Amino acid sequence: MATECDFDLFVIGAGSAGVRAARMAAATGARVAVAEERDMGGTCVNVGCIPKKLFVYAAHVADEAADAAGFGWDVHAKGFDWQTLLSNKNQEIARLNGVYTDLLEQAGVRLIEGRARFEDAHTLTVGGRSYTAEHVLVATGGWPFLPDVPGIGHAITSNEAFHLETLPNRVIVVGGGYIAVEFAGIFRGMGAEVTQLYRGPLFLRGFDDDCRQFIADAMRGHGIDLRFDVNVASIEKTPAGVLAVLSDGKVLEADHILYAVGRHPLTADLGLEEVGVELDEDGAVVVDEYSRTCVPNIFAIGDVTNRLQLTPVAIHEAMALVRTVFGGQPTRPDHEDVASCVFSHPPLGTVGLTEEEARQRYGEVDVYRSIFRPLKHTLTGRDEKTLMKLLVEPKSDRVVGVHVVGHEAGEIVQGFAVAVKCGATKAQFDATIGIHPTSAEELVTLREKVS
Ligand code: NDP
Repeated sequence: MATECDFDLFVIGAGSAGVRAARMAAATGARVAVAEERDMGGTCVNVGCIPKKLFVYAAHVADEAADAAGFGWDVHAKGFDWQTLLSNKNQEIARLNGVYTDLLEQAGVRLIEGRARFEDAHTLTVGGRSYTAEHVLVATGGWPFLPDVPGIGHAITSNEAFHLETLPNRVIVVGGGYIAVEFAGIFRGMGAEVTQLYRGPLFLRGFDDDCRQFIADAMRGHGIDLRFDVNVASIEKTPAGVLAVLSDGKVLEADHILYAVGRHPLTADLGLEEVGVELDEDGAVVVDEYSRTCVPNIFAIGDVTNRLQLTPVAIHEAMALVRTVFGGQPTRPDHEDVASCVFSHPPLGTVGLTEEEARQRYGEVDVYRSIFRPLKHTLTGRDEKTLMKLLVEPKSDRVVGVHVVGHEAGEIVQGFAVAVKCGATKAQFDATIGIHPTSAEELVTLREKVS
């Protein structure tokens, strides 16, 4: 088949996963094409990680201006201009779109604009033209999911939140995962009144319980009206915005209602099922441990497979795939001990097991925990604390979980993730000399187990 095909690899989707796989495959000498129907860089670049983090920075400026007084600075934030932020953000994203295009071109990858659809397992059509390929990689990502609630058409998702014409004064955020807590913090930091609704008793399900409670308390401390065990029964349009009727009978009015209740794989209308690719009940492409679908020449990586919806994981899956298919070294992506950060206000950095997971896996776990006021806030007077927590498996003494809630939690945990990945023991943490004065030194000076 290889000789008569137009390409050795045809990638559908130029997001984090697709671009990395295409570039790396081309570097092995493969003839590669990528089809993309939207903007280069996919979710992360256009409506995800990058613009979100820029918004998070913007949201923190007000706090920093307020904190300056304690250090003797006379700083007054005169106001916040949403249009300036939006246009600067859009400019940076346009630059990144260009960087992605250049990277592919420099790698010799053929970029095809448009929506690709399978004709058969080796043939794809884009804009009426057919292309044949030895291998096909589905890397189409995901899309915000909207549940079936009356009036849901009046809600926005994170996609629209990045392009609002004006900064809302009042926002209702629905959901209790990464995106909901991040946007609640962003809009609150920019001065909006924020109500966040979560259907269960405590949000951020799947994260360490201490951290979840600590973040809930801190977000309430920042003035977010956080409500648990409640959902939206219906939404109506009003002249000023929206009106949400809640499951507890209460009514909320706001300029916008933002739904962040998960993202579903983008697999509709690609012709996947017609060529025999299996999808699960959420529409995710089912793959084996080498990212191969049940059709041997078709692979899938990134959010479309619904494994871990994180950009660095998608990139890692791309590297493993190229090694497997073009490097002659079958390589399974490693989904163990993946560090991540929820850029909430304050952020949560985490790697390894939660206390609950560690107890389940090992029966017993030693817990080391510290809650302290960071040095900076001794002068700012801000009532903001940091939580640090280590989980240790007592038999091996291995540190199996590190959790930090507080300033720069993501930056801190990124470094400690290397130690966890290497299987570092508590004794090795203790033998590490701290950098003083930092918050992170706490993680190598924790000596007292929590009873
Ligand atoms: P998540 O899966 O993280 O959270 C979804 C939330 O919505 C949960 O709280 C869930 O509740 C709730 N929910 C689900 N269905 C409904 C419903 N019908 N009505 C009300 N609430 C509902 O999804 P996100 O959209 O926040 O993010 C998607 C993914 O993107 C994340 O899983 C993450 O992997 C990735 N991401 C990563 C970021 C980062 O690394 N910083 C940032 C943003 C996104 P319940 O818990 O009860 O199921």
